[in-house]
Amino acid sequence: MAQQSKEFGFRTRAVHAGHGLDPVTGAHAVPIYATSTFGYGSAERGARLFAGEESGYFYSRLSNPTVRAFEEKVASLEEAGDAVAFGSGMGAASAIALTFLKAGDEVAFMGPLYGGTEGLLRDILGRFDVRVHDVRDLDELRDVMNSRTRLVWLETPTNPTLRVVDLQAASDIAHAAGALVVVDNTFSTPYLTRPLEHGADLVMHSATKYISGHGDVVAGVVAAGAELVAELRLHGLRHVGSVLAPFEAYLLLRGLKTLPLRMEAHCSGAQALATALLGHPGIQAVHYPGLPTHPGHELAGRQMKAYGGLVSLDLGSQDAAFRFLNALKLFTQAVSLGDVESLSCHPASTTHQLLGEETLARQGVTPGLVRLSVGIEDPQDLIDDVLQALQAAEERTTVSL
Ligand SMILES: *Cc1c(COP(=O)(O)O)cnc(C)c1O
Repeated sequence: MAQQSKEFGFRTRAVHAGHGLDPVTGAHAVPIYATSTFGYGSAERGARLFAGEESGYFYSRLSNPTVRAFEEKVASLEEAGDAVAFGSGMGAASAIALTFLKAGDEVAFMGPLYGGTEGLLRDILGRFDVRVHDVRDLDELRDVMNSRTRLVWLETPTNPTLRVVDLQAASDIAHAAGALVVVDNTFSTPYLTRPLEHGADLVMHSATKYISGHGDVVAGVVAAGAELVAELRLHGLRHVGSVLAPFEAYLLLRGLKTLPLRMEAHCSGAQALATALLGHPGIQAVHYPGLPTHPGHELAGRQMKAYGGLVSLDLGSQDAAFRFLNALKLFTQAVSLGDVESLSCHPASTTHQLLGEETLARQGVTPGLVRLSVGIEDPQDLIDDVLQALQAAEERTTVSL
């Protein structure tokens, strides 16, 4: 099925885009092409392949049929000209940075971003004379833009405070200064938001999360116009080498077929959980864009199909957060998110620890903040689990006093 066939709906494309029956055997599932290299057939064809005069597979760091099917499915779902897969989300992020930045350039990002991405931008790019601006809002973004700003890096909803960023407004500001806009769409997935429709130039994913959906893969992918993807494939993949393996691509193809169904379940479960917890005396704040009290609720309503599967709770202190996490039974304590299983984490002491106290405080990553990735279990079971963990946390406070 052609990747750009927008006449089909999202669910149809999630199932069919990027592949048909295997041309050699008729296999219905995409075969795992476990091969590093591909024979040319003749010296003349080898020369044509290397000269780019004929397209075809010749080495799996550059392209592999199983990986290609995954790339075409993602391009179709993001309604992008093309896509290129990487061995991890950070592989995708570093490929973008190494392809599109040079010494003397500037990058602006609206924090907090994923911890690894901030580390890449601040610590690594800083060493290569790329200046990084961490802005809080659109006004600050407008203020730092100048002729050297090459990339504007956005994430929405943000991790872990779930702030919603106005992609179109930020893109307009970036484009006025001639910068490219990168959106990390890991939290929303193309089912909820397609950033290219809101002005973005490049969309990246940690495919480890919702795109896989089953917690069994580490992978990344970038979707964009065909020219930007060609540049990324040459400089960011061919010359850097964070390559996706065919087995992982097979698992991702399998995961993507149910992305729309899984996202519906994640979103309705998260909405039910957030609503049930509003006003609970043991919680200081419930962060979820689907709550009318959330500052980004209206914007999320315009920019997202539903409000996502992440809910963050502020329990007031690290002690309370730890007691709560240790009492949860259905939410595995682990990093990552977007799996069918529910997961829980304490960002300030784990994923965001390296940022230091000052940055954590500025970004609202408080000591009492807990991030829940709501899985596809029965929502009522998840609500009951959170309520019993809140109660257990409180009882233990009383006993220890
Ligand atoms: C996990 C994550 C990443 C990094 O992806 P990996 O696959 O772990 O390398 C980047 N951005 C966001 C928003 C993430 O959640």
